[in-house]
Amino acid sequence: MSSDLMDKLTSLAKRRGFVFQSSEIYGGLASTWDYGPLGVELKRNVKNRWWRDMVTARENIVGLDAAILMNPKVWEASGHVEQFHDPLVDDRNSQKRYRLDHLLASQTPELLSKLATELLGRAPEGPPDPDTLTALTEAILAQEDVDLNSLGLLADGKAADWTLPRQFNLMLKTHLGPTEDEGSLTYLRPETAQGIFVNFLNVQAAARQRLPFGIAQIGKAFRNEITTGNFIFRTREFEQMEMEFFVRPGQTTKWLEYWTDERLNWYISLGITPGNLRVRPHGPDELAHYSTACNDVEYRFPFMQKGDDSEGWGELEGIADRGTYDLQRHAEFSGKKLSFMDPGLNEKVLPAVVESSAGVDRTVLALLTDAYHEEEVKGEVRVVLRLSPAMAPITVAVFPLVNRDGMPERAHQLVDDLMGDFAAFYDAGGSIGRRYRRQDEAGTPFGITIDGQTSEDQTVTIRDRDSMAQERISLDKVKVWLREKMG
Ligand code: ATP
Repeated sequence: MSSDLMDKLTSLAKRRGFVFQSSEIYGGLASTWDYGPLGVELKRNVKNRWWRDMVTARENIVGLDAAILMNPKVWEASGHVEQFHDPLVDDRNSQKRYRLDHLLASQTPELLSKLATELLGRAPEGPPDPDTLTALTEAILAQEDVDLNSLGLLADGKAADWTLPRQFNLMLKTHLGPTEDEGSLTYLRPETAQGIFVNFLNVQAAARQRLPFGIAQIGKAFRNEITTGNFIFRTREFEQMEMEFFVRPGQTTKWLEYWTDERLNWYISLGITPGNLRVRPHGPDELAHYSTACNDVEYRFPFMQKGDDSEGWGELEGIADRGTYDLQRHAEFSGKKLSFMDPGLNEKVLPAVVESSAGVDRTVLALLTDAYHEEEVKGEVRVVLRLSPAMAPITVAVFPLVNRDGMPERAHQLVDDLMGDFAAFYDAGGSIGRRYRRQDEAGTPFGITIDGQTSEDQTVTIRDRDSMAQERISLDKVKVWLREKMG
């Protein structure tokens, strides 16, 4: 059922123009996707909603749009050059690549206990905990020319021929200017957050904010992910919606709690089923190098198998206590003072940060997954995307019942009239039943049909996508009716 659903979603996404494989005519490019006409609208609805709820509706949060390319020193200061990597090994037999820590986790408890005794001087009781696995990974990497073959590590239960493990940095490199030497090296940003930190004083001074206040940004980020997949869940190019909230040091715990609640409720407000959402606090072994506490908002993706490390849940967003780590490091590496005189405090302060870091693409995937339904109608399978009216790419489709008797003209007129206020769409292709089905798959909540009666009494039928119920209303009530349903 689960990977089946993924296949169905991927093919619906292509058929209806939500998401296409990138560079498809050349055979594609692994894990890169392009958003089609409906996908781009859905994505825009997500981003607009986020911007409205996080920036426009709040006095103490302002926006920023920083460049993707930054001075490479930023990434030294942020810790990404040194810390943002995965330990990798290859099996020469199968040509498969593994993350060393994941590989260790897949070994038998007996072997792990033996390795822990040899390398750490202690043997865990029962299956090894994440801390032991992390310590083992580090102990192995610390050995020069370590031979994984002599340690007896198996690949998917089979004998392997291991290469030396090596650290693989996840940042995508590029060179600026005509030479490709060290001096021209920079990175495509792996997160948008650093653009906010390095602009912290500019924004604070220009927007005259006092603590606590936030800076928000939406933009592309890039990571050379090793294990990609699950459609748009994990890609090498993706979009983030990040908000860094600057508070007095010592106040991060309460703000972490506040933003965790706010953010969970935000996903519910998009129409996602609450039972498919949860908050999961990170264990100490999972925390990123900059953070002391983190809560993930997760969605229950049916295609993520139970039993793997995600247990069926996938991260949509991380809400993290970054403390003063980033500003302190940037002050250190740039030699610039980043503390400021807070009018509310009357003293110089280097604020601490609580971050909300969400993925646009993962939110889109959660919306599509949650909305996808199949039901039997008159012996046929009806596929319907139950997107909320506020998220749906098209709000209302308008159909002339037949292509004559002035119906197409009248339908066009109605679309023109609606377009300023709603995402309206004209469709005259095929039988009315087929047009309904197409809009069901596109997630369009309402369909208006112009029929023979329209010219007589100025009424139309409106069909509700979910109940398929139709009602007849007068043309001049259509806008009010739609506005009411949009909430
Ligand atoms: P994961 O553990 O799944 O790799 P992460 O913890 O590294 O994610 P963060 O660094 O916290 O992710 O990034 C914040 C958000 O950015 C994530 O919650 C996710 O929504 C999004 N994101 C991160 N990496 C990717 C990716 N490769 N593809 C799509 N979205 C991503």
